[in-house]
Amino acid sequence: MVRAFVTGATGQDGSYLVERLLADGVEVHALVRRQTEPETTAIPAAVVEHVGDLADPATLHRAIDAAAPQIIYNLGGISSVAASWSDPLATSAVTGTAVGVILEAAWRLREAGAGDVRVVQASSAEIFAGTAVVPQDERTPIAPINPYGAAKSYAAHLVDVYRRRGLHAASAILYNHESPRRPVGFVTRKITYSAAAIAAGTQDRLVLGDLSVRRDWGWAPDYVDALVRIAEADRPDDYVVATGTSHSIEDFLNVAFDEAGIGDWRPFVETDPRFIRPTDAAELRGDPARIARKLGWRPTVGFDELVRRMVRHDLELARIDLPTGS
Ligand code: NAP
Repeated sequence: MVRAFVTGATGQDGSYLVERLLADGVEVHALVRRQTEPETTAIPAAVVEHVGDLADPATLHRAIDAAAPQIIYNLGGISSVAASWSDPLATSAVTGTAVGVILEAAWRLREAGAGDVRVVQASSAEIFAGTAVVPQDERTPIAPINPYGAAKSYAAHLVDVYRRRGLHAASAILYNHESPRRPVGFVTRKITYSAAAIAAGTQDRLVLGDLSVRRDWGWAPDYVDALVRIAEADRPDDYVVATGTSHSIEDFLNVAFDEAGIGDWRPFVETDPRFIRPTDAAELRGDPARIARKLGWRPTVGFDELVRRMVRHDLELARIDLPTGS
């Protein structure tokens, strides 16, 4: 039986990955922090939990040693650009340096005779945010413009360093991917949640930043499938995981408010300069040709459908939250 170790198992991607691995018959071990908030996704009982923290090399190393996995999926970390501006130091430790601890732990297990220990690192399109090249691919020069992107860039270099050393290590360069499990702090879920609340009459406005920025949005379970394919590939390599199509926040609003049955979003949406990032990439759009060609991966859910799925989920939540009789 294959044994996998997952960090970030309570997050959007980690929760889908754990479900996928369990369904595939994999023995799943997960790193858990004790400060996990009650509303975050619960980890299934079949998962072996190891208490530790990406910010604490000793507990992280110990957890990996105890699990002795064949595959490590590193999905944990400070995962938002906004949070990385609030705490750049913690971001560099949790999203950057921790990857070095994971790679070294995998290397030592391998040296101790554990066989091939594979590492898949959840990297990000934000490593390319400073480039003028559109679309970006695996050869696009790394050029981060925020602490999150800088930490992910350092991690991407470390993955490359350990791969050159002989470890089966790979970066999945993930473009934005969404689902009803996205926390409401992210702009996409903020929009779908608010559109549903406005439709239900429990909210009357939505405040956003720059509506013109363009992102390449995909469906989270498709991206988890890409992670598994990257882990199972014979040769370790880095892959851009993207749809190849970008849309603006305005496009997102159009579909979300249509699905919520409201139509025109303009009377409800305000823009506030405080929500505009100090620096931001105008367009992040990935070219997924390599992962399509080498690993046969393709996105299965398009932009319209993913927005509508999120809104339908949030409409259901809004209906449940309404006082009885309304
Ligand atoms: P997410 O929902 O924000 O989940 C983050 C996870 O990291 C949570 O399980 C959280 O655990 C864990 N975590 C945070 N700090 C930790 C620490 N100090 N020690 C241990 N665990 C910690 O993120 P996601 O959207 O699933 O993304 C998964 C990965 O893909 C992340 O690395 C993210 O940067 C990357 N990525 C995501 C996207 C996207 O569009 N979703 C795009 C590019 C890259 P707690 O429950 O304990 O807080």
